[in-house]
Amino acid sequence: MSLKNIDKAVKLIKNSSKTMVLTGAGISTESGIPDFRSPNTGLWENIDPMEALSTPVLRRDPEKFYKEGFNILLDMTHAKPNKAHKALAELERLGYIKGIITQNIDNLHYMAGSKYILEVHGNTREGYCTSCGDVVDLNVLTTKVNNGEIPPICDNCKGILRPNVVLFGDMLPEEFNIAMREVETSDLLIVIGSSLMVAPVNYLPQMAKRLVIINMGPTAMDRFADVKIEEKAGDTLEAIIEKLTEE
Ligand code: NAD
Repeated sequence: MSLKNIDKAVKLIKNSSKTMVLTGAGISTESGIPDFRSPNTGLWENIDPMEALSTPVLRRDPEKFYKEGFNILLDMTHAKPNKAHKALAELERLGYIKGIITQNIDNLHYMAGSKYILEVHGNTREGYCTSCGDVVDLNVLTTKVNNGEIPPICDNCKGILRPNVVLFGDMLPEEFNIAMREVETSDLLIVIGSSLMVAPVNYLPQMAKRLVIINMGPTAMDRFADVKIEEKAGDTLEAIIEKLTEE
């Protein structure tokens, strides 16, 4: 691991009065959830998530959505946080970061104990009714789907239930506006495990005053980075905490 780049990142964190973190699928690969774009292991290799997890398929072909896309979501619900998620919870507890903006829908930052999390692509804990807006546990949808109720129907108003995940074709939730304000008012943004190919989340690094990117492989925003660390997220974050707390 390049200790020079770790030292540079540590210096930026120490000199920053407000730091936000932006995470992507790469932080959860060590928890066994495939990302979309890693060569050979990414989800794109087997299935096209842009189709399987899209609003047109959910609306026009719910059978396909609940056979393919929904199962990608359910697979994530069995994962456990890894050392990178735990290190971020620790950095928040120690006061080095204000919070996390995550593109992930796997609930792992919550499970690791992070407190301030902006889930800009939704989560796999909940579903909601597209008619009355009632929010239900995702298990309610799973039970209905397993009983052959496709699409699952709201018990209150008979509207259609769907997962509380931002699908391809959906608008982003209010959390994204909050995320933009948090980045605008921060001194530093640390991106972890994202290829930064997905808009509009990839505008955030361009808005950052200072930028650290921790990602194995290139990202679309490398040219804006003050420091780029091409190492595994877990090892890197543990090394950063060790340096920050060694004095
Ligand atoms: P991406 O797949 O486009 O990019 C992930 C990046 O992380 C890749 O560049 C990869 O090389 C890197 N990476 C993989 N393992 C790493 C590790 N251990 N340490 C450091 N880097 C590592 O992911 P993205 O940019 O988040 O975009 C994909 C979209 O798909 C997002 O919108 C996200 O919502 C969704 N998604 C979420 C999950 C999840 O919730 N876990 C999983 C797959 C996809």
